[in-house]
Amino acid sequence: MSILSWIEDQRKLKLLNAPKYNQPDSDVSQGLWTRCDHCGVILYIKHLKENQRVCFGCGYHLQMNSTERIEYLIDTGTWRPFDETVSPCDPLEFRDQKAYTERLKDAQERTGLQDAVQTGTGLLDGIPVALGVMDFNFMGGSMGSVVGEKITRLIEYATQEGLPIILVCASGGARMQEGILSLMQMAKISAALHVHQNCAKLLYISVLTSPTTGGVTASFAMLGDLIFAEPKALIGFAGRRVIEQTLQEQLPDDFQTAEYLLHHGLLDLIVPRSFLKQALSETITLYKEAPLKQRGRIPYGKRGPMTKIREEQIRRFTNSPKNPEYQTLLNDFTELLYLLNQEKNFEVFDQQILTKALKLACKTETSINWLNFESKEFSVRPIFN
Ligand SMILES: [Zn+2]
Repeated sequence: MSILSWIEDQRKLKLLNAPKYNQPDSDVSQGLWTRCDHCGVILYIKHLKENQRVCFGCGYHLQMNSTERIEYLIDTGTWRPFDETVSPCDPLEFRDQKAYTERLKDAQERTGLQDAVQTGTGLLDGIPVALGVMDFNFMGGSMGSVVGEKITRLIEYATQEGLPIILVCASGGARMQEGILSLMQMAKISAALHVHQNCAKLLYISVLTSPTTGGVTASFAMLGDLIFAEPKALIGFAGRRVIEQTLQEQLPDDFQTAEYLLHHGLLDLIVPRSFLKQALSETITLYKEAPLKQRGRIPYGKRGPMTKIREEQIRRFTNSPKNPEYQTLLNDFTELLYLLNQEKNFEVFDQQILTKALKLACKTETSINWLNFESKEFSVRPIFN
């Protein structure tokens, strides 16, 4: 360590230990004054808020809560929140120094939110968008089952309505108090995003703010068609110390900052907060003309009229050629194909085709051209065109 970096470290340590000029144990927005985390300048909160919580001294982007962000990004009076009453429960009856239910209650009283995310729709410079904003003040923005569910519902709504999605991430990762249930949210959100992006061909922009770490980075934060970040934001999966201990080597000073990640190709753009709304609206305006996008026609979550048990019965039946009824059914089906095809040399019938045909026949909701006479092939996958 060079002498300069040592001095820098000492200065930072001093800043960390210095008393903050707001009330202890209270929300940062409650006091009158606060201190910049980066340069240590004392800031008047009212002016800081007017400057979108960007430090006057050094331009550092301080943390912003979800309500402020929505006010800043969405046109006044157009915000329509979703699922405001969905609230977490305590399936594991988890307890560390404090019971999980108590932690939840504290956080809910302090922030006025039910969980660490706000979702909804609104106009961004007149463009309708679906927006989800995570709130770091609620238990470190951790992703529990409520966060996962609200984001998934938002994505599904956006898919049906053909809206672009913007998710503003600020999170410490998955919520350990909910164990495996919180990890499952990663897969759930990713699956919903897959339908949104790849089947409906709709836009998803993720905006990474400081800090975005853990399970959130490992799932939806990095899945954006475009990934924006705020300057100097901390973005990573595991913490710096853990990586240093694992690799047994010194990491660069700017490791896990937005600038470092942009340089290494993980991000698309670093946008200062004051330009974020403009950058988003211009990007979405460009995307408006995208030719391939689909709207409202995605058969997501739709099921045929059959119950699971009936489907299983049919599956077993079609897999048992020794069943006397099987041969009758196969003959009928062959005859039907002859009639449809008006051709005598149609000799592709086997058990597999019968299985597929039965499955398709059961799903009366689909309107897929499942039989292509030219290529004599069955298509069982829905076609998005
Ligand atoms: Zn500063």
